[in-house]
Amino acid sequence: MNGLIAHEYGHHVTYRALRVSTLADQRTLIRALDEEFGLGGYLVAQFRRNPDVKAVVDAWLADWAHNTTVARRVSRYAMKNHQEFFAEIWAEYSTSTFMARSPVRRIGEILRTMTERSDVVVR
Ligand SMILES: [Zn+2]
Repeated sequence: MNGLIAHEYGHHVTYRALRVSTLADQRTLIRALDEEFGLGGYLVAQFRRNPDVKAVVDAWLADWAHNTTVARRVSRYAMKNHQEFFAEIWAEYSTSTFMARSPVRRIGEILRTMTERSDVVVR
């Protein structure tokens, strides 16, 4: 699977993962982001105030636009919004599982777990 297709598929994965995930899964995702990007509890606190992964990640990326951590650990494009952020993570995670950098591997695995769980949810 090439990078572009993996990125586009990442949008599908993100949509599924966030659509039906439990609050506990979302909290796990937020905590992992907080730790992997060295945010010192910032994201966890934002999520506690407003338990909405999309809004919290979008606000973080906007606030931290000056910070190069996301660009360095994921990609420059990942800084755009939560959709591109998770799609870029999925693209790298799904095309280079063993070589993927630590935040990408950990977040990718959480997205995969959330998406697999969404497959068995009865609607
Ligand atoms: Zn995209």
